[in-house]
Formats: sequence, structure tokens, C-alpha cells
Amino acid sequence: MPSSVIDRIRSAVSGNILESEPLSGHTTYRVGGKAEYLVPAADSTEAEKVYVEALSGGIPVTILGWGSNVIAPDGGIEGIVLKMSSESARMEFPGSGRVLVDAGVSLIDLARAAAGKGLKGLEPIAGIPGTLGGAIIMNAGTDDGDTGSLISRVTVVTPEGVRRDFTRDEAAFGYRSSVFQGAGWLVLEAELAMSSGDPEKLTAEILRIQEERKAKFPLDDPNAGSVFKRPPGDYAGRLIEAAGCKGLRRGGATVSPRHANFIINAGEATAADILELAGELRRRVHKFSGIWLEMEQIPLPGQGSILPPPRPDRSSSE
Ligand SMILES: Cc1cc2nc3c(=O)[nH]c(=O)nc-3n(C[C@H](O)[C@H](O)[C@H](O)COP(=O)(O)OP(=O)(O)OC[C@H]3O[C@@H](n4cnc5c(N)ncnc54)[C@H](O)[C@@H]3O)c2cc1C
Repeated sequence: MPSSVIDRIRSAVSGNILESEPLSGHTTYRVGGKAEYLVPAADSTEAEKVYVEALSGGIPVTILGWGSNVIAPDGGIEGIVLKMSSESARMEFPGSGRVLVDAGVSLIDLARAAAGKGLKGLEPIAGIPGTLGGAIIMNAGTDDGDTGSLISRVTVVTPEGVRRDFTRDEAAFGYRSSVFQGAGWLVLEAELAMSSGDPEKLTAEILRIQEERKAKFPLDDPNAGSVFKRPPGDYAGRLIEAAGCKGLRRGGATVSPRHANFIINAGEATAADILELAGELRRRVHKFSGIWLEMEQIPLPGQGSILPPPRPDRSSSE
């Protein structure tokens, strides 16, 4: 990597650039080899500078929020891993239910702050671990609501360094999908449109939802939430269980005994173990039901990446 580019990037951020940084410390699965450079961005201004500077210097950039929906490759990632954080990130409440937020802000911090201001809408997604940027990319949500429904504008920067605004319609939010997924743009910030509510009740509702999630999901072992999307008219967890896969194991990766659509890192799991197990679940569920499950988690590209197996035929739901 040209040292002049990395020097310019160093002067664009307030935090320390980490060289040969293990990604296992930055992903909730706790797997992944080393990032050549891990660059923390304290807010969207820093993130934009790093992204544009690196790409114009020919250095590949991989964007990471909390790493709560990704499988980082065992062989590591070349170039820069841009880690969005909220250290000095913006969260503004200018009135009339408008909220202006940098992409690195965590959903729980945003939900708590909005509730404190009597702004309603984030409660259903408050317990989802991650940043607002990651939640926009994934249109993260629960049965009670998703990220996209609160968005009035998303601002991205393209690899050419051009800023673009998207309305909610243009963002094409769908079930765990958006126009931003796989586009290669950096999500910088968003404007939310929220309704009003009682601060105490909203705060209590966030706490209640967090407690409910603690009881429902296997939060004690490293994982990255649901492995597969919900197929039409069914649940991935139900299908995996019905196909007899609960407790199935590959290396250090196991199907959670508590929630069959969660793979947990039960010890020394690698990304390869997780992807192998996910592939086996897909094959077994397909054999059992004819349904080919679609991955919700994102295998990040990098050295030694293993892609999930392709579906065997076109009669599936994918
Ligand atoms: C215990 C647990 C429970 C979960 N429950 C749910 C749930 O109920 N509902 C749900 O929908 N999800 C759930 N998830 C999955 C995950 O929390 C969400 O998908 C979350 O929105 C990911 O946010 P993140 O910041 O961690 O993104 P990451 O995992 O870091 O990144 C996800 C993708 O977005 C990209 N990305 C991140 N930020 C940006 C940005 N600013 N610009 C461009 N690209 C970016 C990354 O490159 C990657 O492709 C759960 C995960 C865990 C571990």
C-alpha cells in the first residue's frame, strides 16, 4: 500500500490506525483474520475522507459497523477496514419529529436519546445490535417494525466521491434489503421522521423489549443474529429444527440449541466452520422441504473467503 495514501488517511482521523488488526475483535461472531489496516472513523466527516482518499489512491475499502451481521474471512482483508463509530458522531433533534444522525451511531443510543426527547418509533428496533448505517443497509427490523419505515432521507458518498441523497422510496427498503446493499457506497447519515410519545413510557418500552430479547435469543455465545432470511410463509428456524439440524456442529460452529436459526461460535470457530455449517443447513432444509434458504448474514470478501454453496435448482424460494 502506498505510504503517502496511508499518511493522508492517518491525518484525516482522530483515532489510531491499527495495522494487522484481528477482525475477531470487531465482529460479534468473534471470527476473522487480520485487517491490513483498521481505520476507526469517529464521525461521518472522518469516514467520508478515509473512504474517498483510500479509493482514489487505489486501496480497497471494506466498511464495518458493529460487525453484527457479517462473517469476516479467516485469511483477513487487504486494504482498509473502515470502522464506523459514534465517538463524536452527530445526533440532532431540530424539532417537528426530525432527527439527523451520523451512520456510526448505535441503534440503542439513538433509541434511548429519541425516547428521552419524547420521540416514538425506534422502540421495535432498539434491541438490534449495530449502527444506524448497518441497519439502513440491512433494513434491520423485527415483527413490529423496521429501520426503513422511519427514514425520510439517506445520504451516501459514491466511490467517485459524489454525495447522493435518497428518499425513503428511492431507498427501496424491503425485507432485510435496500438499494444500498452491495452497492459499494458509504452511508454517511440519515434523517428520520418520528412521531411523539411519552418519554417515560418509551424508555420503559425499550427496556421491556431488551429483556424480552435476552430471554428469546442465545446472547451468551458469539453469534451474528439470524443466519437465514424468513422464507415466504414459514420460519427458517422452524425448518432447520424440523429438518433435524438443532445441535448440528462443524468445527467450533454449532446450531444454537435455543434458536435454530442462530449459529453460535462455541469455542474456536472459524469463518469456514460457520459457512460450512450454513451450507449444510441449506442442503438439509432443501432436501427436507424443497425450500432453499437465503442467507441474511453477509460473508465479507477477503483472503480465503468461502462463499455459501449455490442453490441446487430453481424451484426454491430464493
Ligand atoms: C444477537 C443478535 C441479534 C440480532 N437481531 C436482529 C434482529 O432482530 N433483526 C435484524 O434485522 N437483525 C438482527 N441482527 C443482525 C444485525 O444486528 C443487524 O443486521 C444490524 O443492523 C447490523 O448492523 P452493524 O452496524 O453491525 O452492521 P455490520 O454487520 O457491521 O455490517 C452489515 C453490512 O452493512 C455494511 N455497512 C455497515 N455500515 C455501513 C455504512 N455506514 N455504509 C455502507 N455500508 C455499511 C457492511 O459492509 C456489511 O455489508 C442481530 C444480530 C445479533 C448479533
